[in-house]
Amino acid sequence: MPIQSVNPSNGVLLRSFTPLTSEVLLDKIAIARAAFVDYANVPLSHRALCMRKLAKLLETETSELAALITGEMGKPAVAARAEIVKCASACYYYADHAARILAPEPVDIGANDGCVHWDPLGVVLAVMPWNFPFWQVFRFLAPALMAGNVGLLKHASNVPQCALAIEELVRRAGFPRGVFQTLLIEASQVEMVLADERVAAVTVTGSETTGRAIAAQAGWLIKKSVLELGGSDPFIVMPSADLEAAVDAAVHARCVNSGQSCIAAKRFLIADPIYDDFETRFVAGMAAMKIGDPTCEDTEIGPLATATQLDDLDAQVQAAIRAGGRVLTGGERIAGKGNYYSPTVIAGVSRTSAIYREEIFGPVAMLFRVRDIDHAIAVANDTQFGLGASVWTRSDTEQRRFAAELQSGAVFFNAQVASDPRLPFGGIKHSGYGRELSAAGMREFLNAKTIVIAAPVIAKPPAV
Ligand code: NAP
Repeated sequence: MPIQSVNPSNGVLLRSFTPLTSEVLLDKIAIARAAFVDYANVPLSHRALCMRKLAKLLETETSELAALITGEMGKPAVAARAEIVKCASACYYYADHAARILAPEPVDIGANDGCVHWDPLGVVLAVMPWNFPFWQVFRFLAPALMAGNVGLLKHASNVPQCALAIEELVRRAGFPRGVFQTLLIEASQVEMVLADERVAAVTVTGSETTGRAIAAQAGWLIKKSVLELGGSDPFIVMPSADLEAAVDAAVHARCVNSGQSCIAAKRFLIADPIYDDFETRFVAGMAAMKIGDPTCEDTEIGPLATATQLDDLDAQVQAAIRAGGRVLTGGERIAGKGNYYSPTVIAGVSRTSAIYREEIFGPVAMLFRVRDIDHAIAVANDTQFGLGASVWTRSDTEQRRFAAELQSGAVFFNAQVASDPRLPFGGIKHSGYGRELSAAGMREFLNAKTIVIAAPVIAKPPAV
């Protein structure tokens, strides 16, 4: 099947590509492996030089690159530009901090010398999603390349132009040939790449189903894997919260990337004393979001990325209604061209229903009333996912309990959950394992090699 780039705001086919044949694919893997052998010896200072050049290219070509994102997956223009700028920030972070993270770590083991060295693993396959078509790739690429690893990218099939643009940027930044290659392949070809003995490891960002399939193969092959999967993040508002700020953040946390973000808030758990007030304001805020042409500067919500996403979202809303949900605003497709869905709020969905357990990938919020902190924590943790949580409270005591008891990879107080190159990012439970970003992300694809040098045996002076 051809790999197609289709504009989700009008259904127009932008470009079409033929997937690589097995022969070409094997050639590219050979190029990657050969590149690794040389690249592992390229001085860190030179890698940092290239990484900074890459950041500069992103900064000077922000508008053109952002337009690719908007054209292929419908992200509103302002957010698309912000995504490119964020990629540059990750490049700078790793250019600045790699020497510290990769420095050998002496360990006191008594008389002998002990030390940990950080060696790159080799060729790493990155299987990536379309929702942040640059950022998802850069948060793998920047630490991997600074550490001396080599990348092969299998990007989502609806963003081939973004995938090719990233490969081209890396080349123009001066990285040696073959250090980062885009593979225009179908999902079914991933198995062959991972099975190749020249490929050392895999990172997957995508759905639970995809993560499960790739991790099963990686496990069988005994290859390192990192999984960044789905989420159903709770957004909890307690009585002491600044309600206006919480409502504002709630609307944006649900509608970020037109609702198609793993760390978008998806379940809103509101304390009983403020529930009614929150509901009124939140519904008004969601209904007021400006939805439309993603190329317009004031558009806040664009089309969903694909027609399938739209069909799936609508089916989930219908399932939520069947599960007792009351639609407070939205709840329908927007007529006309493009994959548009109205911002939606649903209250009262049964927590025993199947839909309560699913990740909802679009601008659709589910509201729940909670009695107290115990109830809030219980409902928040009542999910197979564990990516992020946003909690709104000014009580120190409550913050301590939420921080300790919420089952998630991150807890943000009085703020929307967000990724940051300086902080580890990832989940627990079915949201995956391993971390991206910060030192933790860089070390996922490194061999922590233990080096011990025994102290010389001092010869006793001969007796006289
Ligand atoms: P997806 O369908 O799982 O696709 C992700 C990538 O996996 C694509 O490149 C896809 O290729 C490939 N793929 C699909 N099935 C595969 C298989 N059986 N074997 C090998 N590769 C396969 O996910 P998506 O719809 O693009 O992205 C949305 C999901 O990603 C959501 O669940 C979201 O929460 C999650 N996500 C998680 C994070 C995080 O950091 N935790 C960040 C962003 C998104 P094709 O496009 O060719 O099918």
